[in-house]
Amino acid sequence: VSAWAKVEKAPADKILGLTVLYNQDTNPSKINLGVGAYRDENGKPWILPSVRKAEEVLIKTEVNKEYVPITGSPKFNELIKQTLYGNDPAGKQLLEQNRIVSSQSISGTGALKVLSEFIKYFHEGPKDVLVPNPTWANHIAILERSGLTTSKYRYYDFNTNQLDKKGLLEDLENAAEGQPVLLHACCHNPTGVDPTLEEFDEIIDVLSRKKLLPVVDMAYQGFRSGNPIDDLSLLFRFNKAVVDGRLDNFVLSQSFAKNMGLYGERVGSLSLITSDADESVRVKSQLEKVIRPIYSSPPSHGSKLVEIVLSDEAIYQQWLKDVKVMSDRLVSMRKLLYDTLKNKYNNPLDWSHLLQQKGMFCYTGLNPEQVAKLIERSVYLTSDGRISIAGIYEQNVDYLANAIHEVTT
Ligand code: PLP
Repeated sequence: VSAWAKVEKAPADKILGLTVLYNQDTNPSKINLGVGAYRDENGKPWILPSVRKAEEVLIKTEVNKEYVPITGSPKFNELIKQTLYGNDPAGKQLLEQNRIVSSQSISGTGALKVLSEFIKYFHEGPKDVLVPNPTWANHIAILERSGLTTSKYRYYDFNTNQLDKKGLLEDLENAAEGQPVLLHACCHNPTGVDPTLEEFDEIIDVLSRKKLLPVVDMAYQGFRSGNPIDDLSLLFRFNKAVVDGRLDNFVLSQSFAKNMGLYGERVGSLSLITSDADESVRVKSQLEKVIRPIYSSPPSHGSKLVEIVLSDEAIYQQWLKDVKVMSDRLVSMRKLLYDTLKNKYNNPLDWSHLLQQKGMFCYTGLNPEQVAKLIERSVYLTSDGRISIAGIYEQNVDYLANAIHEVTT
């Protein structure tokens, strides 16, 4: 008898399943709005010019393909700390006091996995993590497969397509002391709805009073404002809360998949804020013990590219331009879809959320029945009505707006 005889078939991944359907579709006008990866104005994947330059430098300078240390290359970690924390007075103070432990990671997913394991082994508080409703589906899978449980806090108001601020604050207020709380740093996936900085102040106030452990996930740094450093403003508020003694700790997961277009290279980082240098040494030593049996050490090609982008001034400036190009295109596609729906098709629905939401995704408010009708028209999106704005370009926006208009009127 096979050892796997009783293995049942798992349900298909929602997004990957859509891509299969999309690939089988022979309609030349078909549109894929499922996948969360940037596409250029011709609907094609884009290698960032800054990353191309970094590849050229790397080919000339790389001397080995040796293993890197368990927590990644020391140069990578130093650059990450300077970039994420060194641009802010409170962050600098944390750096000077050696209160930041960082590690290279296998992109954002790997960072979240390692953080989940670390929380499972070492967090003294509750092991039930509060996540926004809704959130990226893999958040729940990663946390739960690491032996934690999850509960939802109210986040999105499905009636108004806005933040449910009252519900969110109430649910955090009712959290158990020390409970970990997952927050999206910016460009919330799937809704595109972010709290304002003032609203984040109120959130940080509850997190501090209730002694909760913020788990900040930053997968779209740069896509909110068009500048990756400006998008750290939330992180700066967390740094300040820690330096002021209001908040004890927070942890961060960060990804270069989207903002450097390094999806398949799998490069990102995690960091944990500690109370002092001695605690940092202890935390770092245990972090190594967590990582070593999972994957020994991280991949090094992508991280070498990141090192070049972050340390070569000309390439760094090019990267800032590249991020702006991507973010500007997403903003202009939101506007183009809005204008086409409202001005060309006179669609009666309120589409203002399309303009207000940030980042790669828009929660359209389309219901599963309308989504099914869109799929019949070769427009592929998840049943929750989320569309990836990156899948829109000038040549397909009319087909898309027409299809949306047909299924909503
Ligand atoms: N967090 C969020 C909210 C995401 O949307 C994603 C990717 O879609 C990730 C983390 C991690 O992605 P990656 O593992 O490719 O860095």
